[in-house]
Amino acid sequence: MKGLLEDKVCIITGGAGPRGIGKAAARLFHEHGAIVVIADLDLEKSREAAADVSSERTLGVVCDVTDKASCEAAAKTVADAFGRIDVLINNAGITQPLKTMEITAENYEQVTDVSLRGMLYMSQAVLPYMVEQKGGAIVNTSSVSAQRGGGIFGGPHYSAAKAGMLGLSKAMAREFGVHNIRVNSVTPGLIQTDITGGKLTDEIKTQILTGIPLNRLGDAADVARGFLFLASELSSYTTGAALDINGGMHMY
Ligand code: NDP
Repeated sequence: MKGLLEDKVCIITGGAGPRGIGKAAARLFHEHGAIVVIADLDLEKSREAAADVSSERTLGVVCDVTDKASCEAAAKTVADAFGRIDVLINNAGITQPLKTMEITAENYEQVTDVSLRGMLYMSQAVLPYMVEQKGGAIVNTSSVSAQRGGGIFGGPHYSAAKAGMLGLSKAMAREFGVHNIRVNSVTPGLIQTDITGGKLTDEIKTQILTGIPLNRLGDAADVARGFLFLASELSSYTTGAALDINGGMHMY
């Protein structure tokens, strides 16, 4: 099935990581006819990532999701360029493999700022356009660590931020349903990307796999397909939901 996002203007935050979930989503969305905007910290990297997806119907913009003015400027650039904003994928995120007693105030702010504050600011930046258009879809990238507590890569503050995203997502779904704007989340498990890449010894991998019913790590494309479902009309009657994309890890 192709063309699920035909001519839809889709912003993906944190999409410049070469092997990341956002980049995989950008490719898939492009294949489905979307106009894809990669919004990441560095303008050149965003542009390169967008060009790598396609020289046509893509755009790279600079956006620090922790900075409200930066989010608003990115949204305006997109709206000026394409006249609308249909989909926002809140995908930017960072991890810090710390334990509770090791987390400093600075650590806490860094991690919660990118995932949770970033989700709020970027959503606030696009929602006025979606309300005006009378429709849109927002998908938030939480994590299985919101449900189970931290894993080996994200710390407790990461779990807290990702759990906060689930609450914020539901609250926004309630508030904006009347405007035909759907807000949903995904809770990926252990996905092989730059956040996790290179850090998995065979021993750790074997240990992890015992907790994954599907007996494999995820890849970015697994999550991208979840984004596609929640961003497109395939999920037209779904809002305030969280889609588990973790091989069944959430059940442990
Ligand atoms: P990546 O590191 O590839 O992607 C994260 C991107 O976010 C990077 O390009 C990073 O840029 C960017 N970023 C960081 N801070 C900001 C900011 N302030 N504003 C805008 N962009 C920013 O990792 P993944 O693809 O693995 O992660 C994508 C999302 O999926 C994250 O939210 C992550 O928490 C979540 N997730 C990942 C899982 C996994 O196992 N990989 C599991 C569950 C959830 P830069 O590289 O320049 O810092």
